[in-house]
Amino acid sequence: MTDIAIHWFRLDLRLRDNPALLAAANHEQILPVYIWDVTIDEALQMGGASQWWLHHSLHSLNESLGGQLAIYRGDPEQILPKLVDEIGASAVYWNRCYEPHRISADSAIKSKLVESGVKTQSFNGSLMWEPMTILKADQTPYKVFTPYYRKGCLAAAEPRFPEQAPENLNVIAQPKSSLSIEDLSLLPDIQWYEQMEKLWQPGEQGASDRLSRYINEAAPNYATDRDIPSVEGTSKISPHLHFGELSPNQIWYAIKNNFPDTTVKSIDKYLAELGWREFSYYLLYHFPQLPTQNFNSRFDNFPWLDNAEYLNAWQKGMTGVPIIDAGMRELWQTGYMHNRVRMVVGSFLVKNLLTHWHSGAAWFHDCLLDADLASNSASWQWVAGSGADAAPYFRIFNPILQGEKFDKEGLYVKKYCPELSALPKKYIHKPWEAPDEVLKLANITLGDDYPEPIIELKQSRQRALDAFQEIKSN
Ligand code: FAD
Repeated sequence: MTDIAIHWFRLDLRLRDNPALLAAANHEQILPVYIWDVTIDEALQMGGASQWWLHHSLHSLNESLGGQLAIYRGDPEQILPKLVDEIGASAVYWNRCYEPHRISADSAIKSKLVESGVKTQSFNGSLMWEPMTILKADQTPYKVFTPYYRKGCLAAAEPRFPEQAPENLNVIAQPKSSLSIEDLSLLPDIQWYEQMEKLWQPGEQGASDRLSRYINEAAPNYATDRDIPSVEGTSKISPHLHFGELSPNQIWYAIKNNFPDTTVKSIDKYLAELGWREFSYYLLYHFPQLPTQNFNSRFDNFPWLDNAEYLNAWQKGMTGVPIIDAGMRELWQTGYMHNRVRMVVGSFLVKNLLTHWHSGAAWFHDCLLDADLASNSASWQWVAGSGADAAPYFRIFNPILQGEKFDKEGLYVKKYCPELSALPKKYIHKPWEAPDEVLKLANITLGDDYPEPIIELKQSRQRALDAFQEIKSN
């Protein structure tokens, strides 16, 4: 009888440096499988932008597998044992995921398969340092990034060196029960993704091209350019990383090979950002309530305003504050937002608009191509001040100053708020201060062509500080 293994693809949509796939390739034949898991809570199911990415990434993977990627929709705990029977597989392999619901579902699946005599093994395919391996001397988890990264990770064993794709991948034909990628209906009915198609190339090749471009063009200036949203100063690798089209190990060693002196600021900084990704997963693993509960429980009594009109204006990029609106429109149009601007729009929502970070995280989850439960939850808690090693609540970004510092010429604002294009740079981040004749010359009637600000920045800042004072004294 032929010895067949199943490789269950999840957030590891690649052939290179895929430890579970390599294990499967040691069997005579493999069946590669992707399952759209319907048991996941609606709030955790992939958002619209991510589904667009997944659709294309699955197509790319399918092509690399000679068109034999088997596709299912349902409960993996039912589907995998059935498939094992259907094709007579002796083993099932996957790379580990760290979302709490995935961990519990995976352990139930593993028990079921093992009980029925199927070899079942999971691997680390998406982190350089798995969360359970990095602990403080007292065996408790770190809560602060710098010691976690510098004393914990960098002092531990070097990350695993990336592997090549399996040499002989003997893929069996899709079983009759397999669906097609189209059957998953991942693309929305309304075609709002045309811009995204021009900007992104989901899949393993796209990931590798993106990394090469970053190394050749932006990496040497990362330390300075990473904060300027009008410049391609960052790697834009996050959606590829989220879907596992390349591993962090591949990035880590590609950077080190090209820039051996890792003490150079731009290189150290970039590697540390990969460290922040690891830290987010670390927090999610050790504190699985991270997506829903304040890490710092003092925030449980925070007097949120949760005004629906504010939230709506923020989501639509119609707050009347240009850097905020540019960021929110970048997100809507491209499925991405620059990190500096993510921090600024986050602070504005949570602090100036006194809206719970859950609402911001949910919108990002739906709109971001890189939406990631670990990084999104950890980052929103960081912005809100409720997280581990968070920005202090009282440090409230002033969106005008942030704009003037990081978008000096207003190029980013003008790109996403073209109605402000003719405004002189003196007023580009505060059009409401422009004299009438300046607005007229720029063809702008505030409240008509572009909104009046929905709140007064100074007052709302003070209101946020007062709200914080309430929980501080609790
Ligand atoms: P680069 O600057 O090129 O960094 C390289 C990689 O390092 C990134 O691709 C990412 O994997 C990692 N990284 C960088 N910064 C961070 C960070 N602060 N936290 C965790 N990892 C980081 N990132 C996501 O991947 N998914 C999310 O859902 C997400 N939500 C966020 C929400 C908010 C409110 C904020 C402030 C940040 C969020 N981030 C998220 C982190 C960060 O903004 C993005 O990872 C980054 O902008 C991606 O662009 P890049 O690949 O060009 O980053």
